[in-house]
Amino acid sequence: MQNLQQTWDNSAFYAHSNDPKIRTTVEQIKQTIATIADQCDAFNKLIETAETLPDDQFAPVIDRIRGIHDQTNHLHNTLNNLQTFISSILSVNARDAHASEWKPTLQQLSAELDQATKALDVFLKRVSDRFIDQLILDPKLTELSFFLNHERKLKDQLLSLPAEKLITGLAVSGLESWDNLYTELAGNLSCTVNGESMGLAKAFNLQSSPDRTLRAAAWNATQTAWKTQSETVASILNAINGWRIEETKQRGTQRVLHYLDKSCHQSNIDRSTLNALMDSTYQRRSIGQRALKAMGKVLNIEAMHPWDLPAPAPSSNPTKMSFEAAIDLIANAFRQLTPEMGDFAVMMAQKGWIDAKPTANRSTGAYCTGFAEPREPRIFMTFEGSMNNVLTLAHELGHAWHNWVMRDLPRHQTFYAMTLAETASIFAETLVRDALFQQATTPEEKLAIAWEEASAAAVFLLNIPARFTFEEKLVESRQQGFVIADRLKTMMGESWQHWYEDSLASYDEMFWASKLHFSIADLGFYNYPYLFGYLFSLGIYAQKERYGAAFNDLYTNLLRDTGRMTAEDLVQTHLKQDIRQPEFWQASLAIVDRGVSRLEALS
Ligand SMILES: [Zn+2]
Repeated sequence: MQNLQQTWDNSAFYAHSNDPKIRTTVEQIKQTIATIADQCDAFNKLIETAETLPDDQFAPVIDRIRGIHDQTNHLHNTLNNLQTFISSILSVNARDAHASEWKPTLQQLSAELDQATKALDVFLKRVSDRFIDQLILDPKLTELSFFLNHERKLKDQLLSLPAEKLITGLAVSGLESWDNLYTELAGNLSCTVNGESMGLAKAFNLQSSPDRTLRAAAWNATQTAWKTQSETVASILNAINGWRIEETKQRGTQRVLHYLDKSCHQSNIDRSTLNALMDSTYQRRSIGQRALKAMGKVLNIEAMHPWDLPAPAPSSNPTKMSFEAAIDLIANAFRQLTPEMGDFAVMMAQKGWIDAKPTANRSTGAYCTGFAEPREPRIFMTFEGSMNNVLTLAHELGHAWHNWVMRDLPRHQTFYAMTLAETASIFAETLVRDALFQQATTPEEKLAIAWEEASAAAVFLLNIPARFTFEEKLVESRQQGFVIADRLKTMMGESWQHWYEDSLASYDEMFWASKLHFSIADLGFYNYPYLFGYLFSLGIYAQKERYGAAFNDLYTNLLRDTGRMTAEDLVQTHLKQDIRQPEFWQASLAIVDRGVSRLEALS
């Protein structure tokens, strides 16, 4: 393969972080936001009477919306390009002074743009169905169809405009402050591992050490640290959930929304789908439990404890692969689906769209992002040749492929919910994992892959559902009153027991404090979308054989519709299956079962 780059080149957008063109662009953005704000403010007058807007006013109002829509789209693209450029610099070098200065300015501009269009957004939620029917007939606005329809499903939960503004205003120092408090706490807490004082992030990394004693020490130290903060974190969880319950009550004048209905709306799925997903997973929880038992056997551990969950595969000489070899391997695995996908992986590296070279001052983690105009994906990660790195690269290339096949779609049809966001990435990972397993020659290589599969199965089929069960208990208890820290511990223990049963010898009762997810202000139930994404992707993978040569077109079209269909419609349209029924999920669970059997056979 020719000319593979391991460092990205974004100079087509701006030369560097001190390019004078950035300042000019920022000035232009500010001016355009002001213009848009002026035009949208006019909708303030229309909001209260939106539902009864007379028919003869439809056409002129739609004309105005079309004008604003055009400008906003263009502005979003410009702002997005600049944000991607600046954050790409900061990922590679967190100390870049110019980029660090631009970052908050761009965040501010993005918030101002949201504020600028607020009146129009509210108007579009309140206006009559007849108006929307006419609006989406407009060739330029038809792209808003799914987006508006989805937003308007919760139309009956809207309050008066002053009440809406009051909630948004109060939430800054109310709801959101609790989230900030948690972040601050987690960032500043320290613990002592084997006599050494350290932050929680460092202690967290030690929890995936191959040394069991060290893992246990790091885990216990983290527990001790959080126990000193029990009352504070309990207050945070009570405040956030109490706020949500009260807000839902206030909004429920016409219809009282169940907390899971709200979450399903955000996730773009039906309640019946969520039920089918959770019930099928619970019925097959033994798969995850077997994964833990097999891992314990490989590690020679009689009884697995929470500190053994992140243990790495035992290995005497871990695989080391060059970046070029990894791209080659991934491209070949992708080609088994379609040549285009393989060529795409190579193109990403040839064009300098991936930054993976280990350098000083770069961020940790991996992500896929992209420029908006022209639509070009970018991948950031640190590649050092491990098996895990290869799978991460495949995962991010899957995200990039998802964005690539959608590159000609209107902006509003490219927003997909969290439940669908991991479809292409896990799919790509599975393709590569299967190829790796087939190519593996030594038992050690096979074990390394089977280990990754089994530990993923344990996380997705047991840990994520335990979080879900806990959060259900939390919300329901909070509806009755304040939930004290001791009760939270008991509830977490019971939730782990419900899923892990005897596959673990003890449970993590402080998980409600140590896991950040429960303290996110904007989003409740930030847990099942991971399980959904994992099984959903495997469920689609399961159809690969059945459709044979026709599968790739089906899969591509399915990906293209992720931003303009519900998850149910997506699968019904493209694969003629119903994800509200357990059968779909059972097929996915059967694939996980096969993966776990691989480790069982090797252990
Ligand atoms: Zn991902």
